[in-house]
This record gives sequence, C-alpha cells and structure tokens, in this order.
Amino acid sequence: MIFRQLIEPDSCTYTYLLACSDNRQALLVDPVLETVDRDLAVLQELDLQLAFTLETHIHADHITSAARLRSLIGCRIAYPATDMPATADVAVSEVDPLHLGTLTIQPLFTPGHTDGHHSYLIDNSCGGRVLSGDALLIDGCGRTDFQGGSAETLFQSVHDKIFSLPDDTLVYPGHDYNNRRVSSVGQERARNPRLGGGKTLDEFVAIMAGLNLPSPKKLDVAVPANKRCGISER
Ligand code: FE
Repeated sequence: MIFRQLIEPDSCTYTYLLACSDNRQALLVDPVLETVDRDLAVLQELDLQLAFTLETHIHADHITSAARLRSLIGCRIAYPATDMPATADVAVSEVDPLHLGTLTIQPLFTPGHTDGHHSYLIDNSCGGRVLSGDALLIDGCGRTDFQGGSAETLFQSVHDKIFSLPDDTLVYPGHDYNNRRVSSVGQERARNPRLGGGKTLDEFVAIMAGLNLPSPKKLDVAVPANKRCGISER
C-alpha cells in the first residue's frame, strides 16, 4: 500500500492519498480545491493513476476538488451513500466498501459531526488505520452544532465504531490545528479530553454545548458546493 498524508494549510485539512502498489490505482480522501495542482504532482511523482476521490462528509470549511479532478483526469467521484450528490459516481456504505486493487476501504458510519459522516478503516498487513474525518480528532472531535450534528450521536459513533477498534489502530484525522498528524485508538480512548478517559455521555454533551464556536468562514459557500461535488452555484 502507498499512503501519504497531505495538508491544506488554510483550513488545516488533511487529504489522504491511498494507492495499491500492485496496480498503481489511487484514491484521494477529502481532496481540497486549493491543492489540486499539488495533488496531481504527487500522483505523477509516485507514478499513480487516480481512480477515485472519496469524501468523509459534506464539508463546511473548504470545497472539495472532486469535480475539478474528474474534469481534469477522468477519475470517479465516491461519496457516502448518506450524502450522495446526484452528480457523483459511486456510493459507499458499511455494506458497500470501496476496493482499490488489493486494498479494501471499509466505511464506518460515524454520524454526529454531520448526519451523514463516515470514517474509513484500512486494515491490512501493515496494521489498521482509521481515517476518522471530523468524528474524532487528535485530543478533540468535530463540532456538532449544525449540518444535522448531535453530540449524543457523535458520542455513540466514536465509542461504537472507533474506540472499539484495536488499541494500536492508527487514527488519521480530517483536521489538526496544531500540526499533529497521527494518533492511535488506544491513546484517544485513554486521553482524548472530550471523549476519552471514561468521559460520560452527559459530560461530553456539556462540553460540546459550551464550545460557542463561530460559524466557519466558508459555510454558506462550501456546503452547497460540496453537495454538488465541489461545483459552486454561480
Ligand atoms: Fe467537517
């Protein structure tokens, strides 16, 4: 397996490149419009062909490059079935994983940050990795105050679908605002200040209710665009 963690610095978004080293087919998870040229250069440098883009959820803080990449190089656009735009090509779900050569990308339905959010588990001979999107961040989690978000639902999702994985499963988040890149299930279950260390549902709900976060700058532009695979309404 070929794996790269790429960052878009303005929104601190991580894009993940996964590829099968046998057939050179690649997948970009949560690619960002501003970094299309960088992502195409990485694909070329590694001699990979982009087969799919895939989203963890409908983002509110950046626009996906899915439609742009499809128009440039003819890849297919995959979304969770729960968030599937009419113009996307492939729906994934827990019962419909994505296969890429010898790799299986297993969706885990993890709503709570948004109502359609999915994480992705890649479990192979290199050990397990979970791309946790905005469900579970390093020492944090995604906000739960819009897009059908719910603290109760997120608590359940993280406990049932992510904290139930083996301790040494690596956790690769959708964002980090402090340049941290990777954690593990054991570490987050033990010490995540919102969800770990035995925090109860009531404690978590109180923490999330007290955040009082400002709206994301791109909310009004990004959400409608991402519901169209990244094409702005203009
Ligand atoms: Fe998000």
